[in-house]
Amino acid sequence: MSSYVFLGAPGAGKGTMAEMLCARVGQAHISTGDLLRAEMKSGTELGLKAKAYVEKGTLVPDEVVAAMVSAKLGQSDVRSRGFVLDGYPRTVRQAELLDAALKELNLKLDAVILFEVGEELILRRLTSRWLCKACGAIFNVLYLPPKKEGVCDKCAGALYQRADDSLETAKKRLVVYEQETSPLIDLYDKKGLLLRVTGAEEKNANFAVLSRTLGL
Ligand code: ADP
Repeated sequence: MSSYVFLGAPGAGKGTMAEMLCARVGQAHISTGDLLRAEMKSGTELGLKAKAYVEKGTLVPDEVVAAMVSAKLGQSDVRSRGFVLDGYPRTVRQAELLDAALKELNLKLDAVILFEVGEELILRRLTSRWLCKACGAIFNVLYLPPKKEGVCDKCAGALYQRADDSLETAKKRLVVYEQETSPLIDLYDKKGLLLRVTGAEEKNANFAVLSRTLGL
């Protein structure tokens, strides 16, 4: 079974594409963002440590995230199913730690997929999500707007944005991506692993391009 790293700016569509691919092919979907949010929600020690970084839009320390990913990669079904790493590695150091972990577990990457999307679309996507404080319903002012601005259709509760989805934090996440993560593009290109997918606005069209790129 094939294993991939999904690389690209926040909001480039990595998470959605990883979900669709794993549903179709059966790999384990390993999203460090989802894993960190789950730890934060359960209030674990790791979650408490990660919270300040995630809410500011900066990166959680490399060793912390690497340990979390290694534990996932070591699970027995990952070997038979393959995996999609979504949002990891995000720094050169994380790429080194990943290399070492894969060697130790006798696993390998088949390809690194770079999702390329324009900054304007990314910012629009990142800042368009609103949640209801009272019932948790999710709205998207672009794709699923509430009937009345700032008010939940279901329970009339007040809508709010995830702390790291505000325009300011979204911009910060993009700067962090440019500085910390974009050097990985060259690194994986030199290893001959990099494949590029130019992202479209619509997810089914995007998935069609990804499927062709992977020869599915
Ligand atoms: P996005 O890709 O939209 O930024 P994620 O859900 O992947 O969203 O990540 C949310 C936040 O979780 C990041 O801004 C960062 O604080 C933290 N995070 C996720 N993955 C990593 C990682 N590999 N290294 C460090 N921090 C991470």
